[in-house]
Amino acid sequence: MDVYRVLHSVRQHKNITNLVMFIAVFLVGLMTVFSLGIVVLQNSLRDDVATHVAAFDEANIRLVGAFDILESEQRGAVCSQTFLDWLREVAFLPDGIHEFMYSKDGSIQCTAARGVLPSPVALGEPDARSNRADIDIWFNRNLGMIGFPSLNGTLVRKGDFVVVAPEPTIAHEIPAWQNHEVVFVSADNSIWHRSGTPGHYESLVLAPEANQGSVLSERGCDRARLTCIVVSTPTSWIFSPRNPLFYFAFGAVAIIAAGAVFGVNLILSRQWSLPVRFHRRLSQNTVTCHYQPMLSVKTDTIDAVEVLARWSDVDGSLMYPDRFLPIVESRQLHLEFTRHLVNKAYAELSQLPPDSRPLRVHFNIFPCIFNAELMLDLFEEFLSDKNRFTVVIELVESDALPMDATHTTIQHLEAEGIQIYIDDFGEGYSSIQYLAGLGTHGVKLDRSFGLAPEGSLMDVMLASAIEMVGKTGQTLVVEGVETPNRLASLKAAKSVSLAQGYYISRPLPFSELVAFLDKYSNQQAAA
Ligand code: C2E
Ligand code: CA
Ligand code: CA
Repeated sequence: MDVYRVLHSVRQHKNITNLVMFIAVFLVGLMTVFSLGIVVLQNSLRDDVATHVAAFDEANIRLVGAFDILESEQRGAVCSQTFLDWLREVAFLPDGIHEFMYSKDGSIQCTAARGVLPSPVALGEPDARSNRADIDIWFNRNLGMIGFPSLNGTLVRKGDFVVVAPEPTIAHEIPAWQNHEVVFVSADNSIWHRSGTPGHYESLVLAPEANQGSVLSERGCDRARLTCIVVSTPTSWIFSPRNPLFYFAFGAVAIIAAGAVFGVNLILSRQWSLPVRFHRRLSQNTVTCHYQPMLSVKTDTIDAVEVLARWSDVDGSLMYPDRFLPIVESRQLHLEFTRHLVNKAYAELSQLPPDSRPLRVHFNIFPCIFNAELMLDLFEEFLSDKNRFTVVIELVESDALPMDATHTTIQHLEAEGIQIYIDDFGEGYSSIQYLAGLGTHGVKLDRSFGLAPEGSLMDVMLASAIEMVGKTGQTLVVEGVETPNRLASLKAAKSVSLAQGYYISRPLPFSELVAFLDKYSNQQAAA
């Protein structure tokens, strides 16, 4: 797979690829937020459970402490006045447990608040038992039997003493996004709901498969394994609009995704701008020659072509010199570029039929590489094929061409069989004296003369330019010939040798040049 091609089509469909990239990064971002969210939520549930369990343990310690005092510090005979006074003293200790009772054979005999009961109150079978803590429990009993008919409470018995135990309190309020249940787990593993959502513990702890993936939960039990709590939250909470972090995460992910798209674009546009692309792919394969035939007006024959460079981009589209010549200039690719072009032109033109007419091949040469040694090296192949080809260098007047040195170079090259023409004459400041001084072989009038509408000022100037150049004895080419009238008038002007322009032919790729030359010579033969 051609990486350039892929990159190019990515750049061509910028909007779509940016959108796809944004969505992809956004989704990956959301997934990352989701995974992080799960970890954070799970940790927060774990922390919450740990604080709740610590509160349960503290309550247990108080309970155990109370029973210890009752068992070890008993005063007076059971249910005597001394005993009851002592029981009341213990009830005032600041441990949250305020009602103490003495029971014998499963019946309460006396209590701190009521004294000796008129008749013992049977407790009946306990609701639950914890073997570890060695206690029996009665849940939610109406305390009317001990004189508080409007109250319900949990009775806990250890040995001969019974206390009204405070309900397990959770350490702090459960936030709205959490669900919870506190249960009591008895020795036979039966579960007693204490607070929160009834059934929640069972569904999460006893049948966890049912909620797998959709609910995060944490469970914890106190050290006595009596009181357990489960807290949970749906995983969808992470993306719930009620989650205050949701908008923040959404915004942050969107900003990151936009930043990623921007960054990738920046890198791509740096790495894949036209100059980079042109430079990296510059080769004989990407440089393309178009050949524009020139008509010898006196003989009506095609004896010359101008090689005009094009460059084929990754997608196969042809680029014109106005777009890539500035890159050649800025990246100093003059020689490399011209070499590819000349080699390509020779590789193609040498395939012309052997019996075809000798051809002058015009090349546009950058003034900065115009020196004899380079040119002889550059055109080596053409020069070794002198019977078929004559190289013509077209030079645009430039500061890079100092008169004396250029004159010497031109003489040197002319001696080797390379002709030099001044291109675009009349466009800049080139004077006729300059022309004569350089000793060039020919002159190409600037296209604007050839293109000038009949009767216009430029049209008048064309006539005088032709006359002026004619006097120097140089071969005169007029380009930009687009109409039969213009060609006719050039034919009438005796000093014009060659005409070039769309009316004769547009610049052609090699295969079309072959066809054009063929057709043209057949027409000639028929005439
Ligand atoms: P140029 O050397 O003056 O080339 C003639 C330009 O005029 C070509 O444009 C040609 O396509 C166009 N042309 C030819 N006949 C007509 C016509 O009848 N009407 C109109 N309107 N235009 C016509 P192109 O190929 O776009 O080249 C533009 C310029 O790029 C050339 O101007 C030349 O300065 C430069 N260039 C092209 N190839 C090369 C190269 O290989 N090396 C260098 N250094 N410059 C090149
Ligand atoms: Ca030219
Ligand atoms: Ca020109």
